[in-house]
Amino acid sequence: MKSEEEIVKEMQEVVAQMVIDDLEEDPSLEFEMFECDCCGKEKSLAGSIEYAGYRLCNDCVLIAETGFALNKIKDIQELIDAMEDKRLEKLCDFIRAEEKRSNN
Ligand SMILES: [Zn+2]
Repeated sequence: MKSEEEIVKEMQEVVAQMVIDDLEEDPSLEFEMFECDCCGKEKSLAGSIEYAGYRLCNDCVLIAETGFALNKIKDIQELIDAMEDKRLEKLCDFIRAEEKRSNN
């Protein structure tokens, strides 16, 4: 049984690898921007993923994949709704805290 910390760490590696893989395939993606359907920010297409009609930036992919792995969300619609009313802020804070810790 993995701890939440281990799952978050694993997801960070997987999601970071998606950017690397995308840029290996097409380096121009780094400069191709789109508006993320989840956070609403202008983000690079590199490392973005489309889920059920929503294109998510790499940062949101990390939140989504971690949310799925930790059973905090069951589908992307739930994440999109949660981002809107900030219900997932706690999860995001948790991920950020883990990021800080693993950077130390
Ligand atoms: Zn986003």
